[in-house]
Amino acid sequence: MSDDIHEVFAVRYASHARMRSENYVFGDPHDEMTSIAYYVWVIKGAHGTFVVDTGFDEKAARERGRKIIKPVGDGLKALGIEPDHVDHVIATHMHWDHAGNYDLFPNARYHIQDTEMAYATGRCMCHEMLRKPFSEDDVHAMVKKVFAYRCEFHDGTDELAPGITVHKIGGHSKGLQSVRVKTRRGYVVVASDGCHLYSHMDEGRVFPITYSVGDTLEGYRTILKLASSRHHFVPGHDPEVMNIYPAAKPGLEGWVARLDVEPKV
Ligand SMILES: [Zn+2]
Ligand SMILES: [Zn+2]
Repeated sequence: MSDDIHEVFAVRYASHARMRSENYVFGDPHDEMTSIAYYVWVIKGAHGTFVVDTGFDEKAARERGRKIIKPVGDGLKALGIEPDHVDHVIATHMHWDHAGNYDLFPNARYHIQDTEMAYATGRCMCHEMLRKPFSEDDVHAMVKKVFAYRCEFHDGTDELAPGITVHKIGGHSKGLQSVRVKTRRGYVVVASDGCHLYSHMDEGRVFPITYSVGDTLEGYRTILKLASSRHHFVPGHDPEVMNIYPAAKPGLEGWVARLDVEPKV
C-alpha cells in the first residue's frame, strides 16, 4: 500500500445528556433530551501515529459536570497504541474538551494554528463569553510546550505527512483546524468542532459556542469540499458516528470505530 494512505479511528471517551435546544443558535422546536459524544481521533500509517485532540480527564469532567465512559488513554491502548509512543498530536483547537490530558503524550509534538494560540492567549480571553470553553490550565500547558520546543505552528493549510493535511476553518474557535486524511476510501475529513453534528452541516445550523457564525457556515463548505463526499466528513460530537461506522475490532463497539471504511448510511 502506498505510504500516503492512512487508517483513521474515532475513540469515544465521554458523553453528555442535554436538551436538543442547547445544540443550536436559535434553539430547536423539539423539546427533548439528546446526548452529545466526546471523541479523540487517531490516524495511523507509515508516517507514525497522529492523535487528533487530547480530550479531557476525570478532574475536568467533574468540574464541568460531564461523565467519562473510558479514559482517553484506555481507548488508545485498545487500539494497541501506547500514549508514550505517540509522535504527533494535532490540536484542532484549545477548548477544554479537546485540549486536556496534557501530560498524556510526553513524546509528542503538538500541531496548532498560529491563530488559535494567539486567540487563546490574547485579548479575546478578557471576555467571559469567549473564555468560557477554555481552561486556563490547558492553555498554560500549551504555552509550556511552546517553550519546550514541542509545538509546530501552522498558518492556514499545511501538510504534516504525505496524505495528512491541516486546514484552518475558524468559526467555532478563531483558529480551529480540521484534518484531511487520505484513506483507502478517499479523503476523510476529521472536522472536529468545525462541525459538531451531522444536523449542523445538513441543515446549515450553528452550535451556540462560536467566535464567528459566518466563518462557521463558510467552514462547512470548506469541509465538504475537502472531503470526498458528504459521507467522508466526521463531525466532532455526533453520537451517530458510533452507529454508522464499524468497531475497530470485535469488542470495541460503541467505543472505538473505524472511519476509513464506508459508513452504513
Ligand atoms: Zn470546541
Ligand atoms: Zn468540542
